[in-house]
Amino acid sequence: MKEKILIVEDEKDIVKMLDYNLKKEGFRPLAVCDGEHALDLATREQPGLVILDLMLPGMDGLEVCKNLKKDAKTASIPVIMLTAKSQESDKVIGLELGADDYVTKPFSPRELIARIKAVLRRVKEKDKLPEVLKTGDLIIDLSKITASVKGKPVELTAKEFELLKALIKAKGRVLSRDYLLDNIWGFEHSMGIQTRTVDVHIRTLRKKLKNESKRIVTVKNYGYRFDDED
Ligand code: CA
Repeated sequence: MKEKILIVEDEKDIVKMLDYNLKKEGFRPLAVCDGEHALDLATREQPGLVILDLMLPGMDGLEVCKNLKKDAKTASIPVIMLTAKSQESDKVIGLELGADDYVTKPFSPRELIARIKAVLRRVKEKDKLPEVLKTGDLIIDLSKITASVKGKPVELTAKEFELLKALIKAKGRVLSRDYLLDNIWGFEHSMGIQTRTVDVHIRTLRKKLKNESKRIVTVKNYGYRFDDED
């Protein structure tokens, strides 16, 4: 399947140039000219990457980036910003907001395509996890869906296993309760499951992990992170 690339840009000539070159490279470009549509389409279409111009009518590119990164449904989509030379400070803010890279206008299609490929490669590398993860006395086998502490198997429910996996995959990043609910409980979340549900599952998960339970660190009023330092 062709990877979708969302172009967020109001300059028609640039959109045309990107559309042509992305198609030529085997991508499936989608284009919108303002931030509101960009957020809507990113959520619905789940593109592999967003090319985001900073100068947009209405909501500017930084605001779009911030919104993409704060929504669990779009947070993992990489963003490449298009900036003008005069927007050096915005570039820094954009990277702080979670953009993955930037390209300064004017740019050549070849340069941008190279950046896109590099970012996509990086994201895929990051997603790749070894099948068996070892941390202290804890061993998790992602293909067999089993866990053990000090060689003794730990019986985890499907949700507990998913929770543990999500936390480990985040590599020390804090995951909010809402993010975990969205990603692990999915539609049940909208059926009225509360953020407290996450806490309840974390509690049982910790109990089962015994002395390795310290790895699941509570971040007050927000969520949890996994600590794999010994
Ligand atoms: Ca623009």
